[in-house]
This record gives sequence, C-alpha cells and structure tokens, in this order.
Amino acid sequence: MAAHHTEQKVLTVHHWSDRLFSLTCTRDPNFRFENGQFVMLGLMVDGKPLMRAYSMVSASYEETLEFYSIKVPEGPLTSRLQHVTPGDTLLIGTRAVGTLHIRNLKPGRRLWLLCTGTGLAPFLSVVKDPAVWDAFEQVIVVHGVREVKDLSYRDFFERDLLQHEYFGEQARQKLVYLPTVTREDFACRGRITDMLRDGRLAARVGIAALTPAEDRVMICGSTEMLKETMALLEERHFAEGDTHEQGDFLIEKAFVTR
Ligand SMILES: Cc1cc2nc3c(=O)[nH]c(=O)nc-3n(C[C@H](O)[C@H](O)[C@H](O)COP(=O)(O)OP(=O)(O)OC[C@H]3O[C@@H](n4cnc5c(N)ncnc54)[C@H](O)[C@@H]3O)c2cc1C
Repeated sequence: MAAHHTEQKVLTVHHWSDRLFSLTCTRDPNFRFENGQFVMLGLMVDGKPLMRAYSMVSASYEETLEFYSIKVPEGPLTSRLQHVTPGDTLLIGTRAVGTLHIRNLKPGRRLWLLCTGTGLAPFLSVVKDPAVWDAFEQVIVVHGVREVKDLSYRDFFERDLLQHEYFGEQARQKLVYLPTVTREDFACRGRITDMLRDGRLAARVGIAALTPAEDRVMICGSTEMLKETMALLEERHFAEGDTHEQGDFLIEKAFVTR
C-alpha cells in the first residue's frame, strides 16, 4: 500500500504571537498540490502519526512548504507543533485536496478573499498564483481578527506582494488589502459579515453591493463565519461552486470545532 505521508524537515519557525506561528519545511519532490489546497500535517506521537488538516501557504511552484498555525494550548497537535525547531521531523500527507481554486469559479471582474484568523492561509497561496492576477480586475483580501497582533502577514500584503518579480505590478494595480479588527481600535473595525451586510466592503471598491454578475468570492473561516457569509451571499443569488461545478463563491473550513 502507498504511504499516506512522508517525513520532512522543519527549516524555519516564526512566532507571530502567543497564539500564532508559521513554519517552513522541506517538500517531497513527488508532492503535488494546487494553490489554495490543504493537506494532512502532523507529528509522530507515542509511535503513531497525529495528523490535522493544514492549508498550504506556499504556492504550488515553490520548493519548500509553508504553513500558518494556531496554538491551541490543550490541542493534541498544536500544543506540540508550536515547539518544533529547525531540523525536527514533520509528517506531510501525500494527497492535497480542497475547493479554493479559481478554476471552480465562473469568470468575474473582482475576486474577494474573505477570511478570519488562520483562514488567511490558503489565500496566501491563492494570491501567489499568476493566473489569479490575469483573471480578475481587482483582488480584495479581507482578513478579520480579534486583536491587531493577530494580523500576521501584513508586511507580505503591504510590501512583498507589491514588489513581486512577476506579478508585483499587477498586484500594485489590483490588490485591495483590508485587515479588520473586532476587539481593539484599528483603522478598520468590525466583523466581515457586518461589513458585507451594511455595504462597507462594497464601498471599499466603489460599488453599492456585491453582485453575482461581477463578483466572485472565496471564504475561509469558522463554521459560524462560513454559515453567516454564505447566507448573505445566497440572499443575493450567489451560487456555491465546488470541484465539480463552477460557481460564484467557494468555501473551506478554517477548522472544525471538536
Ligand atoms: C480544511 C481545514 C484546513 C485547516 N487549515 C489550518 C491551517 O492552515 N492552520 C491552522 O492553524 N489550522 C488549520 N486547520 C485546523 C487544524 O486541522 C487543527 O484543528 C489545528 O491545528 C489544531 O489542532 P489540535 O490537535 O492542536 O487541536 P484540535 O483538537 O484539532 O482543535 C481543538 C479546538 O481548537 C480550535 N481550533 C482548531 N484549529 C483552529 C484554528 N485554526 N483557529 C482557531 N481555532 C482553532 C477548535 O475550537 C477546536 O475545537 C484546518 C482545518 C480544516 C478542516
């Protein structure tokens, strides 16, 4: 039987805060994935693999893999994973899956990437896809968090992406990066769903409301966030897409509540 995972080495670890960190690791040359997909990642614990779903932050063409993780204090995996250091062994599944790919969306003018917390992870991969910059006139990344310190990857959106060798120029013209905070003072305050409902999101790009004629949406967040956002889009006649049928919006869970 084919192996379900390979052993890879941790290369770097970056702690954003007491709740969040990112790591990079080696990539098996046979491991293929598409931007926006997720894979099982884990550690050997008591002689058994302990695996959880993780979205790739890295783009499909990059030589190493990057992941963005929560630290759940009592979490079986992340209570351990947060302590890995360069050289440690990680287990990476051999098969990547997921729906967050522009192929699963009908053509449109604007691409909205709506996420909360670590739900940002797949969109870091999506925006590194050159096809995304060719396919849309605008790409709007809305990252909702509780506190300002949870806004990881701000420099990536505010600086690195805009200077990217291949699509930096397109990003400078087309990217709208909108970080929003719910529990502290910040330039943009509020929940994504409220901002979608009251027109604040639409106003950011000079339109009255999102419409299925022009807007395409990918959503990654908690089950509650997904439910509420989907309901708002369905009220406006947006149709959900998946790997079998193109739609106006796509969803992926950022985590499941156990
Ligand atoms: C499709 C998919 C993709 C995922 N991608 C990522 C990712 O890129 N990064 C990541 O950190 N996690 C991701 N997760 C969640 C991940 O699979 C684990 O749940 C997480 O690593 C915690 O594992 P654990 O064993 O420590 O605790 P678990 O027992 O898995 O979780 C314990 C509790 O912690 C909370 N929780 C778990 N994950 C999160 C989270 N990310 N944000 C907020 N609360 C959480 C939930 O309430 C859960 O009940 C993803 C989950 C799914 C289903």
